[in-house]
Amino acid sequence: MEKDTEQEDQALTRKDFLNLTGKSLIIGTAGSFVLNAISAGEVNAQTTKKAASPPARIPPFIQEPIVLEQWKSDVDQQSAPTPTPLPPLQRVGYAVVGLGHLALEEILPALSGCKKSRLVALVSGSPEKLKKVSQQYGIDAQNCYSYQTFDQLKTNKAVDVIYIVLPNGLHKEYVIRGAKAGKHILCEKPMANSAKECREMIAACQAAKVSLMVAYRIQFQPHNKKIKEFLQEKTFGEPKLITATNAQSTANVNHWRHKKALAGGGALPDIGLYCLNTTRFILGMEPTEVFAYEYSTPGNPLFAEVEEMISWQMRFPNGVIANCTTDYDVHESRHYRVNCKRGWLNLDKAYAYKGQKLMAARAEGKLEKQEDIGIAEINQFAAEMDHFSSCILDNKKPLTTGEEGLQDHIIMEAIYQSAREGRPVKINGVAPEPNWKGPEPKDD
Ligand code: NAD
Repeated sequence: MEKDTEQEDQALTRKDFLNLTGKSLIIGTAGSFVLNAISAGEVNAQTTKKAASPPARIPPFIQEPIVLEQWKSDVDQQSAPTPTPLPPLQRVGYAVVGLGHLALEEILPALSGCKKSRLVALVSGSPEKLKKVSQQYGIDAQNCYSYQTFDQLKTNKAVDVIYIVLPNGLHKEYVIRGAKAGKHILCEKPMANSAKECREMIAACQAAKVSLMVAYRIQFQPHNKKIKEFLQEKTFGEPKLITATNAQSTANVNHWRHKKALAGGGALPDIGLYCLNTTRFILGMEPTEVFAYEYSTPGNPLFAEVEEMISWQMRFPNGVIANCTTDYDVHESRHYRVNCKRGWLNLDKAYAYKGQKLMAARAEGKLEKQEDIGIAEINQFAAEMDHFSSCILDNKKPLTTGEEGLQDHIIMEAIYQSAREGRPVKINGVAPEPNWKGPEPKDD
């Protein structure tokens, strides 16, 4: 819980701010209440029948980057605009649930670099880990929870979002409990163990009137976003073929990733999902049919419960065929290539946390011109969390909704079915068009 003294220091407190920009705007979009202006200490609200202009989310003076004197010549890349972070107490508060590899190595450090999000609570089954991590990140003991006390997050006013970073098989339970606590939910991928579970999670969040986002960080990663743009603009001509691989080697037979009940499957839902989701993302289209092969090395105890390898094809309505492969028993490899009519795009480390390298080839008459397309890296996790925070502050649908996670599960179930039955399987997805997604975030 936040200290009163801290709150009093703020002309416009975080609670006021979220009340005005989040909850009030829920009423606003229903058409009866519009916020005209918010500035520190001054809030003008008026009742109208229809919203005349978009509601102000963040005071304009905060949204404006500070312009610094230019000192580099025009032939050098200019610096990005200065960031426009929200004051800490006005940021959206996150409770991170599950302190394993992803939370400790990526998410908590990324929260420190966020502009609209901040860490306010921790949930773990290990009191020792909680003590250490809470001290490292300056979280009070009263904001630390176990899985037994998880539901008490409901009364913690500093928590706006519960971020589920648990084994896949636990996502459903904690998303539903989190929604019942009245908190917005960010859920790690894969969303659950099955499409059925995803539907229950979506229904629970709808019933609780909280927002649900699935953490598909690639959709916030600049190289992948640039490829999507190239394909939409047909810069290299029509896309025709995609080949995508996400593979690595695993070694711990006791790890939850090798237990069907906790993982839902093997390489496919864990890492193959990136080939699936990213291909859908860059094409902006849904596959109509899949055909798959599955293999696990006989006698390898790692693959007693879950698959080692899946290789599958997806057909898209524009004729594009995507060949995707995932494997849990080969040296790490994460890349894809899009072959277009007049060139190709190749992304190395496509699904990694960093180190993406984008190469493009373009036909120029009878010659081929190859380019190394340099794009500045960002922290994908920070971008993803700040997007969700913006959506909460603006009362907007997030880009990667629960339905987006459900669609992947529908397709993964078709992939498994195809491998089992040795035949192509048609996809009957969430909806014919991906209109379940929120708007693409503007780079900020
Ligand atoms: P991990 O094993 O390192 O951490 C899982 C945490 O859950 C641990 O702290 C563990 O103690 C806790 N836990 C609670 N109940 C448990 C139980 N019954 N069995 C096992 N562990 C239990 O896993 P991770 O790599 O951090 O993955 C967590 C989630 O994040 C998974 O859903 C995974 O798919 C996802 N993930 C996403 C990305 C990404 O880039 N978005 C990367 C890695 C993992």
